[in-house]
Amino acid sequence: MDENTKSFTRRKFLEIGTATVAGASALSAAPLPQSAPDVEKAERDQSGTNPIGPDDPALHDQNPDSVVPPPTDHANVKPFKYPFELSHKRTQEGGWARQVTVEDLPVSTALAGVNMRLTAGGIRELHWHKAGEWSIMLYGSARITCLDQYGKPFVDDVKQGDLWFFPTGYPHSIHGLGPDGCEFILVFDDGAFSEYDTVQLADWTAHTPRDVLAKNLQVSTDALRQIPTGELYIFQADLPTTSLEEARRQAGGGGDLSKENFSFRLMEMEPTHRSAGGEVRIADSRVFQVSNSVAAAHVIVHPGGMREMHWHQNADEWQYYISGKGRMTVFAAGARARTMDFRKGDVGYVQQTFPHYIENTGTEDLVFLEMFKTSVYQDVSLNNWLTHLPPQLVMSHLHIDQATLNAIPKKEAVIVPV
Ligand code: MN
Ligand code: MN
Repeated sequence: MDENTKSFTRRKFLEIGTATVAGASALSAAPLPQSAPDVEKAERDQSGTNPIGPDDPALHDQNPDSVVPPPTDHANVKPFKYPFELSHKRTQEGGWARQVTVEDLPVSTALAGVNMRLTAGGIRELHWHKAGEWSIMLYGSARITCLDQYGKPFVDDVKQGDLWFFPTGYPHSIHGLGPDGCEFILVFDDGAFSEYDTVQLADWTAHTPRDVLAKNLQVSTDALRQIPTGELYIFQADLPTTSLEEARRQAGGGGDLSKENFSFRLMEMEPTHRSAGGEVRIADSRVFQVSNSVAAAHVIVHPGGMREMHWHQNADEWQYYISGKGRMTVFAAGARARTMDFRKGDVGYVQQTFPHYIENTGTEDLVFLEMFKTSVYQDVSLNNWLTHLPPQLVMSHLHIDQATLNAIPKKEAVIVPV
């Protein structure tokens, strides 16, 4: 966006804002805030100029709400955005991983995320960990394995739009399929969890006395002379040589397979909510039973639409922006509010009970994930709340008349239309 376009957009926003405030004032004679700085005046004078130019033109253009904050933003709100583009990419033969934890984004105490790529045949080593692992496939496909609490195996092939969940301590693996492997997002139910600190098969066997390992496996020590001397993490291997059915049969060894379903076809599910502005699919333990510590909402907001003003009673919200552009204002109480801009690859975060909206600011669909460390998704819609109170109570707070109150949608839309 060039300077003229930005300036025009900004003016338009301020004009609308001023008209709304003036209209409300005329109706109700409510006093305007006395202490608000005159942002519009500041923009017209020398206060907002940047004599040496933007420090980083790309970041400048990607963050218009940081360059020129809405006049309603105020005071110090901890940053709630971290792009995966800034994370270290750990690359090995077979793929790569990068993560955003509480070390990178201090506000994100409840959940951490990993972006991973596996080539065709690339394997994320057999491993397990203390955090529960939720995932969504963004590109390509993989064969996943897991062992349940009864010692029964699960094997499945997951493709774009599918989820999987591995509970705490359950051993699992991910194997990239053809033609080009896969890329996915993992979300862990602990903000301090590091994907680089998991319990891995080859790491364990390398650090067990060889005679103990041989005794345990009931084989000769000579048969173990080529086992790896340390972790593999991600490594290149061959594509699976068997069909899914054959792989299940082999893993079952003639016995039962797991009765649990560790995968879920999210994008084959009908939207939980749909409006002219977009659609939402909610996958929590009510529909995806094994996902008992992570709830998810997959949100599509059409251009001009907006994830309505709301908050969550029961959990912090971790976000991943899959595609498009948007902006979010988080109101942190005590007159503190901050607006930040988001795009593909960004992680966002909202603390439990802090109200927010997410507006599509681009020309394409905005697609993002809302993730929660809870078994059941919950939210409160501002519109639903305001229309389910004695009207007099609402009118005396907001200084609006009955006709205005009547115009507010009577139930949660989730995505408000254009
Ligand atoms: Mn894992
Ligand atoms: Mn939310």
